Amino acid sequence: MNGDAAAPLAGPYYRPLGEECVLFEHAWRRNLPVLLKGPTGSGKSRMVEAMAARLGRPLVTVACHDETSAVDLVGRYMLQGDRTVWQDGPVTRAVREGAILYLDEIAEARPDVVVVLHPLTDHRRRLFVERRDEVVEAAPGFGLVVSFNPGYQRGLKELKPSTRQRFVAIRFDYPEPAIEAEIVHAETGVDAAVAKRLAQLAHKLRSVGELGLGEPPSTRLLVDAARLIDSGVPPRLACRAAIVEALTDDAELARGLADLVALVF
Ligand code: ADP
Repeated sequence: MNGDAAAPLAGPYYRPLGEECVLFEHAWRRNLPVLLKGPTGSGKSRMVEAMAARLGRPLVTVACHDETSAVDLVGRYMLQGDRTVWQDGPVTRAVREGAILYLDEIAEARPDVVVVLHPLTDHRRRLFVERRDEVVEAAPGFGLVVSFNPGYQRGLKELKPSTRQRFVAIRFDYPEPAIEAEIVHAETGVDAAVAKRLAQLAHKLRSVGELGLGEPPSTRLLVDAARLIDSGVPPRLACRAAIVEALTDDAELARGLADLVALVF
């Protein structure tokens, strides 16, 4: 690691929760692909944005979904007038530019995506563009980052062990209440006391396991609620709209959650 490791982040605000930024930087410098695993809204994308800015690399982000295929990522021939022209997809662009490539929710994508990524994850650092019969060597600075939400996939869409073992993995979790309050305050400018209560509320909701929530509330929901409150919406209403209704469609459960909100605000 060089001497500027402790320099303030030049890009978007990101509050490190542990050693993730240090690990990320070492992995990038050593050409090791990185897997970020953790629940939605826990700061994975924000950290990648902040690190790309700090390392001075362009960032190419792809939000993967179940229709995302290798062709979407690598590129395709397009008809332009009476000619066909090749258009690079985001992965090819990132490899040529030496960008940081972030494939969000990689397990959602079709299996052919992983096949394309494999030669990029090892010492070869190259991309085979089959349709053009071209091999693209990764430009210096290229880094591959993928994310995966283990809870959410619930075993339906897992990453194969042979794929996982190609990545250095960094675990993300929801922050401690004091740190989460700091994040909500810094991110939204909401009163520090309100940010503290929002963090307490999230902590309560996450620790009541028997509530039967599909997924616990993320920092993102707190940030949304804080923005509403900062804009003048009464806190209980803001929490209902940004947190409770985002977490459940079940009216009875929503009433229970609103009771918890009322205990805090
Ligand atoms: P993920 O990619 O894990 O789904 P994001 O990075 O999009 O989550 O985070 C959602 C929001 O939560 C961000 O836009 C930001 O407002 C906030 N956030 C979460 N964790 C942090 C953090 N450690 N530092 C700064 N903001 C954070």
